[in-house]
Amino acid sequence: MADCIFCKIAAGEIPSTKVYEDENWYAFKDIEPCAPVHILVIPKKHVDNILAFDEEYNKNFADFFLVVKKIALEAGLKESGFRLVINTGEKAGQSVFHFHAHIIGGKEMGWPPF
Ligand code: 5GP
Ligand code: ZN
Repeated sequence: MADCIFCKIAAGEIPSTKVYEDENWYAFKDIEPCAPVHILVIPKKHVDNILAFDEEYNKNFADFFLVVKKIALEAGLKESGFRLVINTGEKAGQSVFHFHAHIIGGKEMGWPPF
């Protein structure tokens, strides 16, 4: 999508520190990490957020959790575990309107987070 910063990152038009890529997914380090490991996982096919999903688009997410698992294991998060955060909508903290999941780990985290 034109003028979407994460579409441009996935296309390599804006530099990022890539940690994973396949045909459908791109993952890179967050520019402002909130933990020792802070990775963003994005679909290459643009969607604003979960609220924009329909049944057809959802098929792209069949392997989403396996991709997250692979990235988390490669980042060394098996022992510490990790948090998967998907901010959805401006009031919930979403600032970039291209779906992204934050993989956050490498430190102890409390709950609730706010
Ligand atoms: P949100 O607040 O939408 O859930 O998360 C957006 C995340 O994207 C933020 O954690 C922010 O630091 C990160 N971010 C925004 N712009 C860029 C960028 O150009 N490069 C990288 N690597 N991360 C970005
Ligand atoms: Zn996009």
